[in-house]
Amino acid sequence: MFKPTPWIKNVLLDRDGTIIEEKHYLHKPEDIVFYPQTLTFLKQLRDNNVKIFIVTNQSGLGRGYFSLNDYHEVEKKIKNTLEKHNIKVEATVFCPHKPEQRCSCRKPKTGLWDTLSQKFSLLPEQSVMIGDKLSDIKFGLNARCAINFLVLTGHGTNEAQKHKLPFTSSYTLATWQGQKIVVAKNLYFVWQYLKKCKLGYS
Ligand SMILES: [Mg+2]
Ligand SMILES: [Zn+2]
Repeated sequence: MFKPTPWIKNVLLDRDGTIIEEKHYLHKPEDIVFYPQTLTFLKQLRDNNVKIFIVTNQSGLGRGYFSLNDYHEVEKKIKNTLEKHNIKVEATVFCPHKPEQRCSCRKPKTGLWDTLSQKFSLLPEQSVMIGDKLSDIKFGLNARCAINFLVLTGHGTNEAQKHKLPFTSSYTLATWQGQKIVVAKNLYFVWQYLKKCKLGYS
């Protein structure tokens, strides 16, 4: 039923609604709340030598809802919290534009993938994308990532409902726009799927 085991070396994650709770235009470090399964998940990735990247749309910047300094304070707190748990994030990349600016870096466009893949020599067939919106999934599909996970945290449940994707209490394969994706209840179940793949550096 499941395709056998690609070799996964890189995991790209959306931020809001995927690793931390979705808050409307989050921009205060004190509003950061990690999902209970996030730290364990990321630790398991690092224990298997998988590289972690955060890829986030932050249109609140382009809309003038918060400043670049606000954004960096939030990014710093996330990084520090993860480092306290010995979780290294290779890089965080963000799109600061609002949709009307039609930039090339707002997911689902692949500008942020291009940046990361060039800088870190990432291969899409060794990379996975995880997000709570179908724009994240589309980004992963556009970049030709090996596996694309929609998590049902954050906007995920609404997205699944809107696009008639199956709900699951664990994980399930689904077809969206003619492409195979994986719907997972949360990051714990992403791990249940991923741990069956070949993981880490060569
Ligand atoms: Mg999100
Ligand atoms: Zn952009």
